[in-house]
Amino acid sequence: MTDLNGRCLCGAVSFVVHQPQMLVECHCTRCRRWTGCASTPVVLAAAADLELTAGEELVATYAEEGFSPRSFCTRCGTSLYSGAADTRYVTAGVLEEPELEVACHVQVADKASWHEIGGIAPQHAALPG
Ligand SMILES: [Zn+2]
Ligand SMILES: [Zn+2]
Repeated sequence: MTDLNGRCLCGAVSFVVHQPQMLVECHCTRCRRWTGCASTPVVLAAAADLELTAGEELVATYAEEGFSPRSFCTRCGTSLYSGAADTRYVTAGVLEEPELEVACHVQVADKASWHEIGGIAPQHAALPG
């Protein structure tokens, strides 16, 4: 995939994802609360490949022991990315390009009971090993 551009709702934070790996849709309860949405499509990338191009000083990170930290814009509240160590999961809804295809669904065992998963992408009950 080519580089992907993204920005938050207020536009103060913008970034580029270099060498994005795949689009995965997560159905876990933590992503659900983080975004307020039934599921959270995220683009996987190496931490070094996520380049903040504006507004880095506005990005705050919510960290909770035992879980991946989650970063957001402190001006508008947009959920931007999560991930610890050398992996980043960038929320696909803040990216400019709409033509990504979902590679798979993960954490489907935790999906919202009121949400029906569509499409033909494989569904994994947890995270594929
Ligand atoms: Zn913002
Ligand atoms: Zn999740």
